Amino acid sequence: TQEQTNFREKPHELSNIKKVIGVVSGKGGVGKSLVTSMLAVLTKRSNYQTAILDADITGPSIPKSFGLHEKASGSELGLYPVKTKTGISVMSLNLLTENETDPVIWRGPIIAGTVKQFWTDVIWGDVDYMFIDMPPGTGDVPLTVFQSIPVDGLIIVASPQELVGMIVEKAVNMAQMMHIPVLALVENMSYVTCPDCGKEYYVFGESHIDAIAKKFGISTIAKLPIDPKLAAACDSGMIELFDGNWLNNIMKLLESEEM
Ligand code: ADP
Repeated sequence: TQEQTNFREKPHELSNIKKVIGVVSGKGGVGKSLVTSMLAVLTKRSNYQTAILDADITGPSIPKSFGLHEKASGSELGLYPVKTKTGISVMSLNLLTENETDPVIWRGPIIAGTVKQFWTDVIWGDVDYMFIDMPPGTGDVPLTVFQSIPVDGLIIVASPQELVGMIVEKAVNMAQMMHIPVLALVENMSYVTCPDCGKEYYVFGESHIDAIAKKFGISTIAKLPIDPKLAAACDSGMIELFDGNWLNNIMKLLESEEM
C-alpha cells in the first residue's frame, strides 16, 4: 500500500536491484545464514547477478562461510561490497569493523540504522537477486528493516523443534503485517543420513513441516539434513563448493514468473 511504501528507502543511485528476498528465523543458531548462503550460491550458479546483505548485525556469519577477510572499501560515492570467489557481492558489518571478533553491543535503532545504510549507501550495481540475512526473531529490529527495505518475499527457516511451536506463526504474522508474501518454509536439521546405508533418521521425531506449511498456505517447502560436510564448508569458508539439491524447489520458485 501507499502507506507502506512511504517508509521505504531508495537504494543507492548506482544500484539496480531486481528482487529482494529476506531470510528470517525465530531465533539465532537455526541455520538462517547457512540457508541464505546456499540460496545465493545456487542463484550464482544459475548465472544470476547475486548479492547478500548481511543484516544479522550482532551475529554476522556470512563473511566467514565465504572465507572473506578483506575489508570493504569506500569512496565519496559510497561503499563497495566485497566479492566472493565466485562473484557474489557481500556487505556485512564484519567487512567494516577492525576486528572480526569485536562484539556488537549496539541497541536496536543503531542496528536498524546500519542495515538501512547497507541498502542506501552501498553501491550494489546490477543485482538480479539480493538475499538479506535478517536479524533473528520477530521483534522491532527485523520490523524496522522491513519498513526501510522493499522486500519482495520471505523465506522462513526453522528447526524441527520450532515447527511445533509458535515461531512460524509469528513470522507469518509479521510478513502479513508488512504485506510481504512468504515464499517458502525450510526445516533445517530435519534429519541425518546414515553415511553407511543412506537411511534417513528423523532424530527429532517425525517432521511437522507439511502440516505447518498447509496451515499457513505456504506452498514451497524444503528440508535440510544435519550434514557435517555443510558445517565444515561453512567453517572453512568454502560454502560455494557445497553439493546437494535440498533447496532446488525454492530455486525453481525464485526463477518462476510468480516471483
Ligand atoms: P543462524 O544464522 O540461524 O544463526 P547459522 O546458519 O549461522 O545459524 O548456523 C549455526 C551453525 O550451525 C553454523 O556453524 C552452521 O554451520 C551450523 N549448521 C547449520 N545448519 C546446519 C546443517 N544443516 N548441518 C550442519 N551444520 C549446520
